[in-house]
Amino acid sequence: GPELFGSRRNSRGFDLTDAADLARIEAARAPHAETIFDAGPRLAGPVAEAASLAILNPATGALVGHVQPASDADVQTALAKAQAWDAPAADRATILRAAADLYEAEFGPIYALLAREAGKTLSDAVGELREAVDFLRYYADAAGSLIAPARGLFACISPWNFPLAIFTGQIAAALAAGNAVLAKPAEQTPLIAAFAVDLLLRAGVPASALQLLPGDGSTVGAALTRDPRVNGICFTGSTETALKIRRSMADHLDPTAPLIAETGGLNAMLVDSTALPEQAVRDILASSFQSAGQRCSALRCLYLQEDVAETIQHMLFGAMDDLTPGDPWDLATDTGPVIDAAAQADIAAYIEVAKAEGRVLKTLAAPKAGHFIAPTVIRIDGIAQMPREIFGPVLHIVPFKASEIDAVIAAVNATGYGLTFGLHSRIDDRVQRLVEALRVGNTYVNRNQIGAVVGSQPFGGEGLSGTGPKAGGPQYLPRFCATPAPLAMP
Ligand code: GLU
Repeated sequence: GPELFGSRRNSRGFDLTDAADLARIEAARAPHAETIFDAGPRLAGPVAEAASLAILNPATGALVGHVQPASDADVQTALAKAQAWDAPAADRATILRAAADLYEAEFGPIYALLAREAGKTLSDAVGELREAVDFLRYYADAAGSLIAPARGLFACISPWNFPLAIFTGQIAAALAAGNAVLAKPAEQTPLIAAFAVDLLLRAGVPASALQLLPGDGSTVGAALTRDPRVNGICFTGSTETALKIRRSMADHLDPTAPLIAETGGLNAMLVDSTALPEQAVRDILASSFQSAGQRCSALRCLYLQEDVAETIQHMLFGAMDDLTPGDPWDLATDTGPVIDAAAQADIAAYIEVAKAEGRVLKTLAAPKAGHFIAPTVIRIDGIAQMPREIFGPVLHIVPFKASEIDAVIAAVNATGYGLTFGLHSRIDDRVQRLVEALRVGNTYVNRNQIGAVVGSQPFGGEGLSGTGPKAGGPQYLPRFCATPAPLAMP
């Protein structure tokens, strides 16, 4: 009941199987089909003059908007003007809840931006807006029970794959705890970031508590990670970048400044011979190809027990034939593009090597124009053979024998990554045993392994996959606060 779980409800979003909901979305989104958006620094002081860059739709190449990247002078202005948000926790919470309401009200332009700037299908966009709203309300609620003061100034460095949800989640947590934030969105998705910041400011977040610095990692990111005025860094992105940030922090920041990093994964799923094949196939499909595989939670390496491998593979390839890759604006599209030309070239080169080695089991046709990668399945001998995280719609399959289960788990743990794991099995003892043996942040049993829900499935990994604490869970906010002074000994 409410005594246990509080009164917060997750955002409803929309039901895409409901004609009335779809009609509302179409009406609100259509006016933004060709709007040219603008982004630039949002500072509590003057913005320096600078040239703008064009942002193009990854599916169509069409112009979506322009961004003025922050200059070195803008970064200095932001650092000088930043001021921790010293309003009482209850007032901060009220403002973050007001921002959540604004986000929900602005679903039309937000879905348009998610499709046009980030290549998100409508169902991904609906999920993403819900998650952003949930983060705002969840951290607003949590602000009331904090016992320690803010740390001061946080740099929030966020990825393009959840340009609204993760961008907002980091900021909401830092602000709920009373910090000032300098937000650096991914260079691929500054338009949605600027749109979100404008909503947060409109809701009442003070300009000195939230400043936006669009730009790239080597200028804006690097400047933020070496300035001693920064008291903590929240980062989601690649493991390599997290390590760079940590080195820079060690050289320049206060030794107590935390790095809260959510990084990559080499996520596996194990399907044993007791799994329900139809359900397993549906969950494999969603885990590996939804969002064109561009989730750090996505399934990369599927272990199929030999007895069922052929059946499941056959059903999976049949289901893949029904996937429609295409422009995410189109409601019929199941998988959109990858984010940009560099990602496309990198993944395509990887698939080419597997093709030359005769290991491609299945691939679809992808649209010729735009940054598309066709959903592809590659045969490998084990997860140890995966050179790195391939951040796209590429699934690897490995058959295994019942006697090899422990070896499979050992191999998964040995990657050093530990983000998500999917398990399809009806054997309770086995499920229990594997869940305990796996060193991953989130294990999902008899379901897909993406789309953690704020407040019920705190999300985050271990080892190379992140520092914790998990986002959307009760441990997250305290990390944005100063360590309380130890109690005086009597
Ligand atoms: N939270 C997302 C999920 O559960 C993944 C986040 C990410 O890709 O960084 O699918």
